[in-house]
Amino acid sequence: MIFIIDFDGTLATKDTVDALLEKFAPATWEAVESEWLAGRISAVECMQQQIRMIKADRITLESFFRDIQLDPHFDDFHQHVSQFATLAVVSDGLDHAIKVALQHNGLAHLPVHANQLHFLTDGTDISFPHINPSCNAGNGVCKCAVAQNYAATAGKPIVLVGDGKSDACLAHRADVVFAKGSLIDYCQQHHIPHYAFQTFADVLSVVKNWPIDAPKELAVS
Ligand SMILES: [Mg+2]
Ligand SMILES: [Zn+2]
Repeated sequence: MIFIIDFDGTLATKDTVDALLEKFAPATWEAVESEWLAGRISAVECMQQQIRMIKADRITLESFFRDIQLDPHFDDFHQHVSQFATLAVVSDGLDHAIKVALQHNGLAHLPVHANQLHFLTDGTDISFPHINPSCNAGNGVCKCAVAQNYAATAGKPIVLVGDGKSDACLAHRADVVFAKGSLIDYCQQHHIPHYAFQTFADVLSVVKNWPIDAPKELAVS
């Protein structure tokens, strides 16, 4: 069994990339966001333009990353689930931000798959090692491709825990979906069975009822 855990808005209580831009980029980052929402640029172009607008050095940014707030219920969830499943943090955000935040919270052992953040002298750039041109979702990280790779070794079922746009492609293919935020609306619109949740305490309360010996079939109520 593999749990694919989203980061921004899911494991982290807020969106790290938005918080980063608000603090370290000129206000015009929101104009770039509007271009993307209007469909004039892709999600990847949007992110690239925005990350290049950040003006701060590595020390400042790493200190910001250490302050990222994680869901306080994640520890309990993680302790229970790691007895019988593989967990991976898969995010369309920034790998280094996630790794610093996880390390600061004693979670450095969790595998992270995300876009790559690069530090320049007084700014940042981004690259997309997990991009999948054949995925219609057009995200920097194709979560369905990462999940398929895990399922090949960790086995099924694939369980998705997420909250937003970057989770949509995998929501169609995962065996079980835990959704919060706009992912709930997306699942409803596309008739994808899902558990709605607010925190990892809600997710744990469902997972606690699963048989611990790697259930092959999980019914979603
Ligand atoms: Mg998210
Ligand atoms: Zn995809």
